[in-house]
Amino acid sequence: MSKIKNYINGSNILPLSNKWIDNYNPSNGEVYGKIPNSDKRDVALAVASAKKAFKTWSKTDRNERSKILAKIADLLEENLDKFAKAESKDNGKPLSLAKLIDIPRAADNFRFFAHAITQFGSESYESLGEEAINYTLRHPIGVVACISPWNLPLYLLTWKIAPAIATGNCVVAKPSEVTPMTAYLLGDICTKAGLPKGVLNIVHGLGKTTGNTLISHKDVKVISFTGGTKTGAIIAKTVAPMFKKISLELGGKNPNIIFADCDYKQMLKTTLLSSFSNQGQICLCGSRIFVEKPIYEKFKTDFIKAVKNLKVAHPNNKDAKIGALVSKSHLEKVLSYVKIAKKEGANLLCGGEKIMVKGYEKGYYMQPTVLEIQNNNCKVNQEEIFGPIVTIMPFEKENEVLKMANNIRYGLSASLWTNNLKRTLKFTREIEAGIIWVNTWMLRDLRTPFGGVKDSGVGREGGFEVLRFFTEPKNICLKY
Ligand code: NAD
Repeated sequence: MSKIKNYINGSNILPLSNKWIDNYNPSNGEVYGKIPNSDKRDVALAVASAKKAFKTWSKTDRNERSKILAKIADLLEENLDKFAKAESKDNGKPLSLAKLIDIPRAADNFRFFAHAITQFGSESYESLGEEAINYTLRHPIGVVACISPWNLPLYLLTWKIAPAIATGNCVVAKPSEVTPMTAYLLGDICTKAGLPKGVLNIVHGLGKTTGNTLISHKDVKVISFTGGTKTGAIIAKTVAPMFKKISLELGGKNPNIIFADCDYKQMLKTTLLSSFSNQGQICLCGSRIFVEKPIYEKFKTDFIKAVKNLKVAHPNNKDAKIGALVSKSHLEKVLSYVKIAKKEGANLLCGGEKIMVKGYEKGYYMQPTVLEIQNNNCKVNQEEIFGPIVTIMPFEKENEVLKMANNIRYGLSASLWTNNLKRTLKFTREIEAGIIWVNTWMLRDLRTPFGGVKDSGVGREGGFEVLRFFTEPKNICLKY
């Protein structure tokens, strides 16, 4: 049985807490490892290590930092297979997906910020005619806590770590206790790439204990969090009296709005992906599908046929389109929404059941599920399920669907399928979301701002936005 360790001051070390959590393999339901449940002493050690490293790293030339980040990206790519296998085993996602998306994107995160930091500058203004100049310095802030969820473990954790260290901060990361494995492997890669000791530290443990201790530590100045809306609210409340800088990337329940004039074939193919990729466990999944009436029945028939063809299988199966859900409790939560939907009068068009995969009967598999609903306000259409369940509903008028799309507490992303320019301009202006895809989904450009509005979060990641977040601006007015 593997026992993973904390990565502190450049070394893998046993937790001082000597407390451990079982690590499950979702594909077969078996415990295959132990992870530390770090306590106050472990967190203190990690924060002290980051604080010490900050003295030098914050003054290290950005070109030097950039070179190390690029090297981490190279090493991640060289170890793609090892990382992808670990990610898939820990999370239950198809191995093919981890190879195609998760690990390459983690490498891209480092490479992107290796470049971005060399281009990052700040503004200056001449004032009083030419008698004064105002310029802005952007300093790294200090110790940053990066806290991430289980759905895209390395992808999302490195999306925070890379810009934080690129800007000269030092990090204490706490990956999800459900998927710690690739973060553990990352430590060694960083050491090999020449990242100085203490610039990145990784502590493992439960959110309520390790996570809470980390965010509350007086020397942690910045918190970059991705996870559930409820947790985001707890974190915001905990650290508000300490005036820490925080960024919150939270839950989503995103509309996928389909008009009859769209490119039907492309829409159908993409809607299948936006509904069920990663077992529907992506905050950007389009789990509320609204279809214009003239094509509703056709869409319903074609979509159901395609969904029924999605192969649910062990993550190592090359044909697997859907793997295992991340945990037993999550599977139970997702399945409970099928019951809720039935009670609410939804029409179960397909799926809705747990699946026994031969040879892996204790794994957390579930059929991809489509629910036809009549009421936008029903629970299954308002609450984030974060699993392989989507709702579909017809609409007739633009304003009707716009209202339904916005009538929700979340505002992360939206997809719009139409070839009508006027409508596109209206919808992209009026949909309440941080990211809107028109005639596509999940087409990401790392230079763009990423994040949500309403209960989907505060702040933006990506591009120069996140480099600004991880730096403190200082304005200097120089009169001459
Ligand atoms: P979660 O909120 O339960 O946990 C996220 C992380 O926070 C974990 O590392 C956890 O240990 C830690 N944590 C929990 N309580 C804490 C506390 N009190 N203090 C400090 N840390 C704490 O979320 P999850 O179940 O791991 O992930 C699923 C959620 O993440 C979904 O709601 C999903 O929409 C969201 N998500 C959002 C985005 C985005 O970019 N907006 C991306 C991916 C996932």
